[in-house]
Amino acid sequence: MAITFKSLSYIYDEGMPYAHHALKDINLNIEEGKITAIIGKTGSGKSTLVEHLNALLVPSSGSLEIEDTIILPGKKNKGLKALRKKVGLVFQFSEYQLFEETILKDVAFGPKNYGASEQEAIAKAKLALKMVGIDESYYETSPFDLSGGQKRRIAIAGILALEPKIIVLDEPTAGLDPKGSQEMIDLFVKLNKKAGITVILVTHDNEIVYNYADNTVLMADGEVKYSGNTLELFNDKEKVKEFNILEPKILSVKNALNDKGFKIPSNVRTIDELAKYLSKELRKWTI
Ligand code: ADP
Ligand code: MG
Repeated sequence: MAITFKSLSYIYDEGMPYAHHALKDINLNIEEGKITAIIGKTGSGKSTLVEHLNALLVPSSGSLEIEDTIILPGKKNKGLKALRKKVGLVFQFSEYQLFEETILKDVAFGPKNYGASEQEAIAKAKLALKMVGIDESYYETSPFDLSGGQKRRIAIAGILALEPKIIVLDEPTAGLDPKGSQEMIDLFVKLNKKAGITVILVTHDNEIVYNYADNTVLMADGEVKYSGNTLELFNDKEKVKEFNILEPKILSVKNALNDKGFKIPSNVRTIDELAKYLSKELRKWTI
């Protein structure tokens, strides 16, 4: 397993009267090479959980293993700089962290900070910008002149320039228009499918979860209530009811069609796939 949480708990302001137990005894594996969604209501602990993945937060108790790095409570953890290169964390509203005067400089900042020469850093930045779909005509533009979705992609390029094996995105589509959201989704699917990067995605959008996430982790009140295959979760009527999980539209349509006699396989999970399946079935009927 690439990532393993073992009895991990996290308390904000530990020892203070207003201490808050945000994560409680988390035992969790996150599979390498997959897209894993983390869902749950606001305040359930999603951001706190993912901020452990690059040791921005360290556990109050328990541990976290990421490949060969073990993160334990206290300040003596070793290898965190290397870990932060391996695990890229894209914060919610990451576009607020852009600061350089040109896009190319902004993206090259990370690799330079990790010891790359100017030339190497620029080469890595150009590659990362290409991955996020920003072409060279933008290199000398100020990042502040771009749209929200573009800015966020620049921030992601800054992380990709460090060549992470794991990328963690906290609510990457929040506040984007439909086009910006779709570009963001296409980006993380491409990072996973083409570049083989493990993608961990905090999101409120169950359409995205159902369409793209191999696995899903459901959080409630600082605890993991489900961790496993995404389709199994959405098909688990008790869990869906207990945790008030909004049914993705595509699943409602599939269920309605199945009630009318179709037998749509569970791996049909996007509108495109459903359209293909139905046109094939309907062709059979008309012969
Ligand atoms: P989510 O990302 O699921 O909305 P968070 O991980 O941000 O949840 O928060 C989990 C709980 O921890 C919430 O009750 C929240 O109020 C609390 N919390 C988050 N950040 C802090 C902080 N910096 N100090 C104190 N409590 C916090
Ligand atoms: Mg959050």
